[in-house]
Amino acid sequence: MAEEKDLRYDPSAIEPKWQERWAADPALYAAEPAACGKPKYYVLEMLPYPSGQLHMGHVRNYSIGDALARHMWMRGYNVLHPMGWDAFGLPAENAALKNNTPPREWTLSNIAAMKRQMQRLGLGYDWATEVTTCLPDYYRWNQWFFLRMYEKGLAYRKKSKVNWCPDCATVLANEQVIDGRCWRHEDTIVEQRDLVQWFLRITAYAEELLDGLNKLDGWPEKVRTMQRNWIGRSEGTEVDFTVESSGEKIRVFTTRVDTIFGATSVQLAPQHSLVAVLIANDPELKAQVDELIEQQKKAREAGDLGAIEKHGVPTGKFALNPYNGERVPIWVANYILADYGTGAIMSVPGHDERDFEFANKYGLAIRRVIAPSEASAGEPPLPFTSEDGVLVNSGEYNGLGCAAAEKKLQEVAVRHGFGQATVTFRLKDWGVSRQRYWGTPIPMIHCERDGLVPVPDDQLPVLLPEQIEITQQGGSPLGRVPEFVNVTCPKCGGPARRETDTMDTFVDSSWYFYRYIDAKNGKSPFDPAAAQYWFPIDQYIGGVEHAILHLIYSRFWTKVMRDLGLIANDEPARRLFTQGMVIKDGAKMSKSKGNVVSPDDMVVRYGADATRMYALFAAPPDRDLDWQEDGVAGVSRFLGRVWRLSTKYAPVARSARGQQADPPTGMSLKLLRKLHQTIAKITLDFEGRWHFNTCVAAIMELVNEIQAADAQLAAGEVSAPAVHELLRTLVLLLAPFAPYLSAELWEEIGEPGAILRAPWPASDPELAREDELEIPVQVNGKLVTVVRVAVDADSKAIEDAALAEEKVRLRAAGKAVVKVIVVPGKLVNLVVK
Ligand SMILES: [Zn+2]
Ligand SMILES: [Zn+2]
Repeated sequence: MAEEKDLRYDPSAIEPKWQERWAADPALYAAEPAACGKPKYYVLEMLPYPSGQLHMGHVRNYSIGDALARHMWMRGYNVLHPMGWDAFGLPAENAALKNNTPPREWTLSNIAAMKRQMQRLGLGYDWATEVTTCLPDYYRWNQWFFLRMYEKGLAYRKKSKVNWCPDCATVLANEQVIDGRCWRHEDTIVEQRDLVQWFLRITAYAEELLDGLNKLDGWPEKVRTMQRNWIGRSEGTEVDFTVESSGEKIRVFTTRVDTIFGATSVQLAPQHSLVAVLIANDPELKAQVDELIEQQKKAREAGDLGAIEKHGVPTGKFALNPYNGERVPIWVANYILADYGTGAIMSVPGHDERDFEFANKYGLAIRRVIAPSEASAGEPPLPFTSEDGVLVNSGEYNGLGCAAAEKKLQEVAVRHGFGQATVTFRLKDWGVSRQRYWGTPIPMIHCERDGLVPVPDDQLPVLLPEQIEITQQGGSPLGRVPEFVNVTCPKCGGPARRETDTMDTFVDSSWYFYRYIDAKNGKSPFDPAAAQYWFPIDQYIGGVEHAILHLIYSRFWTKVMRDLGLIANDEPARRLFTQGMVIKDGAKMSKSKGNVVSPDDMVVRYGADATRMYALFAAPPDRDLDWQEDGVAGVSRFLGRVWRLSTKYAPVARSARGQQADPPTGMSLKLLRKLHQTIAKITLDFEGRWHFNTCVAAIMELVNEIQAADAQLAAGEVSAPAVHELLRTLVLLLAPFAPYLSAELWEEIGEPGAILRAPWPASDPELAREDELEIPVQVNGKLVTVVRVAVDADSKAIEDAALAEEKVRLRAAGKAVVKVIVVPGKLVNLVVK
């Protein structure tokens, strides 16, 4: 065999060989049963939508998770590292329209293609637990959960204003509307429509979803803040004003009831039910209100509701303040939102910026009812919005502090039955109805006699019909399949109609990670005992774009499952990591920008190891990564050096297996010291810092140092046991990052068994410790040189070493050393005159 060929690093030979071996050994990446006695570690990457092609963002996400999983295996954990497919959704229907391929076929062939890519990348997943959400063995449990929620009043149907994307031809959840546009169609303005829809009562858990965030200290603060803002809790008071002419009540929500004596108008959202009454016989008012609605809609569409130019119209009617009977005008205003609070507010221009602006514009009265606590502060200009104040012009409440007044006024409201303390949330119930085909059918039946009838559990799953004509017109495609729609009522046996809406695909991803632990279970969604063992997830990894949608829904689902008695954990994941984006030429990789780099191309050119390792090396995992092909080539060259070094000295390493080593000295000691420092650094990083970029850099430094000693190595000046330890440990350190090459080299240096089962190396602190260190020497505060001293040198020894330096003696020549300052381990400063 020619030596040339031996020395060439050829991932296209090494990688497929190992891929085949791993495929033949499914136990390699399989989780063990709880009884194995090892500590468990559940590492999870967010499952992809099967578009047919992995992109670099996926590769990065999975490279992080895979490195962690491999490291934990080597640390002796029972690791669960699964993968699946978020396989329902609109693109399959669009593809069906375009190519005339049934959605199921299209989806399953995409899954097969992406699975091949993942396997080629050498990602260590336990494929026995694979979950595909569009298959009946999974989605039947969506239906089962839906029925449990229906029984508990957590799933319900109501007519409401919904977000409608004309391109998706379906309803969107609030979370799927971003700046007034569809989350899938950046350029499509979301319309508002009135529809009867199914909702999941996520608001029942609003308080708990919010409070739970405080305990999620393994989640990025950024994500927790986004969720807090989304849930949007505010404490306040509901108070009924009475319409003077009709006696009807207008319930307003305010966070500042202490200012209620300063209310000089009541403002209604244009959609408020009372407005409909007021405009019924007043076409002029109706036209004005319609205009307000139009302005609101435009601002919503522009994603700029907060900055809407405020307009309002007086209704000509008056309302009475329940605390003092004062008569105030009723207005309709475009900045009042029907879905926040009660859709009505009291306007207190003296103490609220927004109300002040509005009152000034329309000439409404402005009154001071709060004065600063400190009398010396005088009369600050209005609006005075501080809550550090006392009530004035507020009748019997004058002199009370704001907080005390709030409490008192709430008590009075309760006593007289015109209000109460309340908490409102920005979070709304989750609209889950979709008028599309490729999703989980909602398991409900409409019977003329019995109304809504749930599909009995023993009739699950409600299967999606396979042969279906897909169009984007005329409501749900399922509505045009008579065999699907026409059904016998389970209650009365008469003819009835199936619900034709399907579920939002975010239902699928809300609990998929529970199914992994028991993916074949045909009797229940999963075994609760297995969940008790595996949950919460130890490390969840995915994009920050899921901070609101998926990560709130899955927290909600977990709480529902807990209350159903299926699980004991309150939260799905103990730790969450959000990796940065992959960008190229300054923009996120995307088809439309034409800057997509195909993982397949990289693998063909440089190998899977180099591609994965570059994805970890090019940037800290939480930052954006600017893809540079030169960088991949560089990593590939580095792996080539590792290959040549290891194969060159593999015979020496093999010869020393099992040999007792003498304490290392000279070059052996120098190299082993570097090795143990590298072990310490990488181990620390895996324990939470995750600076994988500097881990890879540290391995590169180690390899440089070994290579620099090539002459000594070749001359046998490094002991065989040291060579063995160096190579063996280098390969172990590489294993989480470059699984193929490390498996190959492991075999090459004669180590038995799978490298994944070899224990992670431990750093010997004695060996890692430097025995000398460099200390800067200053003369009169100026750096002159550095001295090498023993690590444990005392001040006197350091001073002597500094004074013995040639450069120091030159500086001090003819002068007196008046003072020596030694900071041990850090610095020497000589003061000379
Ligand atoms: Zn859309
Ligand atoms: Zn019936």
